[in-house]
Amino acid sequence: MQICNNIDTNEKGNLTFAGFDTVELAKKYGTPLYLMDEDKIREKMRIYKNAMTKHFGKGSVPIYASKAASFKRIYKIAEEEGIGVDVVSIGEIYTALSAGYDIKNAFFHGNNKTLEEIEFAIEKGIGYFVADSFEELEKINTEAKKQGKTQKVLLRITPGIDTHTNKKIATGNVDSKFGVAIATGQAYDFAQKALSYENIELSGYHCHVGSQVFDAETFIDAVDIMMDFARDVEEKTGYVPEILNLGGGFGVRYVYSQPDLDIENSIKEVGEVLTQKCKEVGLPKPRIMMEPGRSIVADAGMTLYTVGTVKQIKNFKNYVAIDGGMSDNPRFALYDAEYTVITANKATLPKHYRCSIVGKCCESGDIIQEDVHIAKPEMNDIIAVLTTGAYNYSMASNYNRLRKPPVVMLSGGKDYVAVKRETLDDLIRNDL
Ligand SMILES: *Cc1c(COP(=O)(O)O)cnc(C)c1O
Repeated sequence: MQICNNIDTNEKGNLTFAGFDTVELAKKYGTPLYLMDEDKIREKMRIYKNAMTKHFGKGSVPIYASKAASFKRIYKIAEEEGIGVDVVSIGEIYTALSAGYDIKNAFFHGNNKTLEEIEFAIEKGIGYFVADSFEELEKINTEAKKQGKTQKVLLRITPGIDTHTNKKIATGNVDSKFGVAIATGQAYDFAQKALSYENIELSGYHCHVGSQVFDAETFIDAVDIMMDFARDVEEKTGYVPEILNLGGGFGVRYVYSQPDLDIENSIKEVGEVLTQKCKEVGLPKPRIMMEPGRSIVADAGMTLYTVGTVKQIKNFKNYVAIDGGMSDNPRFALYDAEYTVITANKATLPKHYRCSIVGKCCESGDIIQEDVHIAKPEMNDIIAVLTTGAYNYSMASNYNRLRKPPVVMLSGGKDYVAVKRETLDDLIRNDL
């Protein structure tokens, strides 16, 4: 059994991905190599879109959190699938615009948007800001006024939910750099402030509780808390939100021990509670938005590497060094992220060799995964790291002046380059 249904093995004993022989792809494009299964990305977008329309009602849409994987082709796919996108910087907005994405459907996030970013976003006609602070509200209002516009805004509210995931990916707590807390009473002031600005149109509320959430319960808690908050504001000001954005964070299966989340069923559960809760607080059902990032692209991705050295420290430990590293996948170094690793050209052989997969960067912490069991690799074998579609390419750097790998898309039996491999000249382009 494979971790995701786009992974298999073939008669040569090679690992296949989206129907392609990964060893052949490594030969054709070189390594390190990011692969992305376009059909899987589209399938996930449709699962969210259909489930949300069905269980939350018309006007409810998924918003792809594009920080998970941001390059032109992804925005084009989101556009074609008719879903929104989250952007978190002028760079992501620029990329989306360059891809022809209609940013009327974009939500601009971030806890410290610069004036340059605010001006640019309003000028280009961004759909919504998700305002994170009092200062930002003021800046948006001032800038919108200058440009003779009214800007739609959602307010980022911290509901005070502890997701029990890794601290670095939890954001719904009161102690967070994101948003304004309900528990301290400041969220109410935040809403009141937004309502008082002439060039701001308050569209509703946003919350994001964290990432790698595997239960509908967390989102149900969010609905509960956010609708109580909406009622509070409504009682005091008469304001009724058009949109409630529940954020992203649905979990992804990186290793066998993690569950394979049923997205549609989780949305159904949240939908039932929403209907009931709206009746209870006496407010009309808002349009619901969710912002899946990793759960759209993670298992649509795979990274291929070539083995260089296999270092066996006698009676102690084995290190398998590959031709990439924390420069193309910093997630283990950052927060001990888990991954499944397979020797792609020995995919049907027993996985008895215990080793750590390490990169070629000059850091001892440059580890892709510790203590995995794989078919014993040797020089020139191909190592596949699975489920790397989210937060790998988008977090990649040129540390040690390594060139970023290309992104090759796989769709309906065709392979094409979506992002070119960086060249040596790319590395010195800005050096004077
Ligand atoms: C990162 C983020 C997301 C996406 O989280 P995933 O875990 O990738 O689904 C959604 N919304 C906001 C506000 C985020 O910061």
